[in-house]
Amino acid sequence: MKPLVTFKGIAREYRQGGQSVQALSRISMEIDRGEFVAVTGPSGSGKSTLLSILGLLDHPSRGEYLLDGQSVFELTLRRLAEVRNRRIGFVFQDFKLLPDLTALENVGLPLFYRRERVRDSAALARAALEQVGLAGRIRHFPAQLSGGEQQRVAIARAIVNHPDLLLADEPTGALDTATRDIILALFARLHRTGLTVLLVTHDAEVAAHAQRTIRLRDGTIVAGPETAISQRSRISAEAVPCGR
Ligand code: ADP
Repeated sequence: MKPLVTFKGIAREYRQGGQSVQALSRISMEIDRGEFVAVTGPSGSGKSTLLSILGLLDHPSRGEYLLDGQSVFELTLRRLAEVRNRRIGFVFQDFKLLPDLTALENVGLPLFYRRERVRDSAALARAALEQVGLAGRIRHFPAQLSGGEQQRVAIARAIVNHPDLLLADEPTGALDTATRDIILALFARLHRTGLTVLLVTHDAEVAAHAQRTIRLRDGTIVAGPETAISQRSRISAEAVPCGR
């Protein structure tokens, strides 16, 4: 089976005021369909850059990215936007919900961009909210919801298109521990339905929920001990430390 994600020598350099910062240095890795991966590393190690490239929000300076075997940077911009909308779901630390839209409307937004009919959108958005246990909150506005509920709305929005890959950037960073555990249980449940999940986290307890941890330092993957869970249930893919 081909991997869902293949990075071959992905590098990202930022130029600022005549200086260049190597945010990622020739990252090569594979993520199989159905994996649950955590990306960890100190601040400035390249986690956000890696996530942005994975999510097709940023373009590497060098290297190749295959999504389901297709080289994504050969696509037209229009097709790239379609792939991002349909195949990738995003969850952010600060939820990024629109305050003037209800939970149902926030979840329906990706379908609006996809030009779904309003009636179909509402049904799909309602189903996604049911999946995250918020059927009773569909008419609430973000300000009327707790932090955990807002993050569940954001997760519903991320899965409403049935993406192949769910990307989350510190999704529990703004939540208390009890709420964090509810959100992690939700990610685990979605993973069990077959979704491929990749989350960036500073929190070792959060990373321990994943099957495999990719550790970054100075823009490269470093080898490290794996989590107990990953030793029991890892599938096949291996993060390949980049060779220089
Ligand atoms: P992390 O998410 O692990 O904190 P980042 O991916 O945000 O790391 O950053 C990796 C490196 O790239 C850091 O040295 C950071 O300062 C630099 N960097 C990130 N974004 C930019 C940018 N837009 N312009 C210049 N340098 C950047």
